Amino acid sequence: QVELRNISKSFGSVTVCHDVNLIIEDRAFVTLLGPSGCGKTTTLNMLAGLEDPSAGDILMDGQRVNERSPVDRDVAMVFQNYALYPHMTVAENIGFTLRMRHMGRGEIRRRVEEVARSLELGPLLDRLPAQLSGGQQQRVAIGRALVREPRVFLFDEPFSNLDASLRIRMRAEVKELHQRLGVTSIFVTHDQEEAMSISDQIAVMSKGRIEQFGTPEEVYARPATRTVAAFIGNPQ
Ligand code: ATP
Repeated sequence: QVELRNISKSFGSVTVCHDVNLIIEDRAFVTLLGPSGCGKTTTLNMLAGLEDPSAGDILMDGQRVNERSPVDRDVAMVFQNYALYPHMTVAENIGFTLRMRHMGRGEIRRRVEEVARSLELGPLLDRLPAQLSGGQQQRVAIGRALVREPRVFLFDEPFSNLDASLRIRMRAEVKELHQRLGVTSIFVTHDQEEAMSISDQIAVMSKGRIEQFGTPEEVYARPATRTVAAFIGNPQ
């Protein structure tokens, strides 16, 4: 279980998260949905340990993890811009964090090949990122996160640089991966349709607050506030 408890975050005098409370159960696929600038990425960065909350606690399995470094949190993040190392092959990119952990070469190769197979990257292991399509690059970024076998996956608008048809295909792939592996996943997007199609639950954010937390059906059929109704596109 992942919990944000009374989390606030300010940059200087500007508060971008106001008293955020959220509980994400094991194996759930939860999306933070809201317009640009509402604080989604900041919230994800705090979960990852890339930003410190100004107030409040982050708990994983009931343990406070505020002081733990990103590496010690057992989370893996997939970024919007893929963030691949351009001079490394697909295999080296996927295996990078395992090398940092001083795992043996044979074991790294075995795990990289297994992950590459599950993402249909097997034939591309010796290519450089520049020799891949956008969708393939994003799959490598997912592979690099997957190979660490994290407890929690964090996705920050991972498909926003892909064209519409690829976006829809990648959505289905990530959903299938989640169903197969059952890794707790927290996904950020400003795209309502994407959130509706991929999530078990959606946290609708506006101006640094969570306006509603519920299943896609709940937020669509019974929006808790006018802001949610307007954003979800079902004004009542
Ligand atoms: P987007 O979809 O555009 O990425 P978002 O909902 O993820 O938006 P955040 O990136 O979390 O929003 O940003 C929330 C607010 O915090 C924005 O107004 C942004 O300008 C501000 N902000 C984010 N990071 C910093 C920072 N390091 N210093 C100052 N302000 C910041």
